[in-house]
Amino acid sequence: MVADIVQFLKSTNRVVITTHTRPDGDAIGSQLALGLFLEAMGKDVWMINSDPVPYNMEWLPEAHRIRTYDHSLELVEAIASADAVLIADTNALHRLGTPGNQLKGSGGKKILIDHHTDPEDWFDMSHRRETASSTGELVYELIAGWDLGGLSPAVAQALYVAIMTDTGSFRFSNVSPTLHRMTADLLERAETNAAWMHSMVYDRKSPESMKLLAAVLSTHQLHFDGVVGTMVVTRQMLEDSGAPVEETDGFVNMLLGIEGVRVAMLLTETAKGTKISFRSKEDWEVHKWAQSMGGGGHRNASGAFYTEPLEATLQHILASAPDFLNVDPPDDGSTLSEEDADYLAMLSGG
Ligand code: 5GP
Ligand code: MN
Repeated sequence: MVADIVQFLKSTNRVVITTHTRPDGDAIGSQLALGLFLEAMGKDVWMINSDPVPYNMEWLPEAHRIRTYDHSLELVEAIASADAVLIADTNALHRLGTPGNQLKGSGGKKILIDHHTDPEDWFDMSHRRETASSTGELVYELIAGWDLGGLSPAVAQALYVAIMTDTGSFRFSNVSPTLHRMTADLLERAETNAAWMHSMVYDRKSPESMKLLAAVLSTHQLHFDGVVGTMVVTRQMLEDSGAPVEETDGFVNMLLGIEGVRVAMLLTETAKGTKISFRSKEDWEVHKWAQSMGGGGHRNASGAFYTEPLEATLQHILASAPDFLNVDPPDDGSTLSEEDADYLAMLSGG
């Protein structure tokens, strides 16, 4: 579908590019790369999101060009009059946030560039592959199918960050020799080095985040004979540490560093419910489990927001684990093992 998309985009003038709420490195990097490349191809480009660019992506060249949707006439008109609306790194309307309905209702063709499972059906064209490491990888393919000469240093940096962040810095199972070759090309074009870009994204946490990490690690617990690991972030921990909630990013992966753990979950308490981050290894799929709780994502990395308090969410997760994972429920007919029941009681201060 790359050739069709390229051919169509060549015929357009105004292009709007958007991505999901609480955008991550792949979201911002892919969007920015598409935007700057299309601008180099002479298009009138608008990059419009529901949420602002996270602080550790603001250094990307031209990141300030990404606009936060504010219902202004300017942005409403840009979306309404677009010839194409590119949706990057999500395939679900609800993940587009505030401008979602405007974007879907635009007269322009809706073009999906994404690597998530189970796309919705309102896109006119798509370049999608669930096995792609990142949306950034798909954007590179699109650019390669058009004109690699337009892959400027700014575009290369954006794509490098997109791929680096969605592969856990090139260590997840979605990393292939082909991806490394692509990344090598990006590094050659980026006119900067890998260490600097990595540092700009990852080495910018506050001292308070160490305090938060210590508190969160102390809640770690293994379940189902050590195959499943969980940790929790309470509102109290956030308050006590003074660290912003964004700094819990990456905490969940630490559980996968324990030998034997195949599925890891981080539960974050909020005023309205509990945010769950699922991560897994090998063929231990978590996306259907996340979907069952109203979320979704990838086979090895998913998320959901469950409108129940922390303990009730954890209880639900542990009780439903045997429905989605190859693990056995307690053989005494209860939904929770004695150990897990004790853990829940401990968390709720009982
Ligand atoms: P994270 O745990 O980093 O928040 O999310 C991991 C992945 O799960 C994201 O890249 C995204 O694909 C997916 N995801 C996270 N939260 C949600 C959600 O609420 N709904 C859906 N459909 N997917 C989510
Ligand atoms: Mn992604």
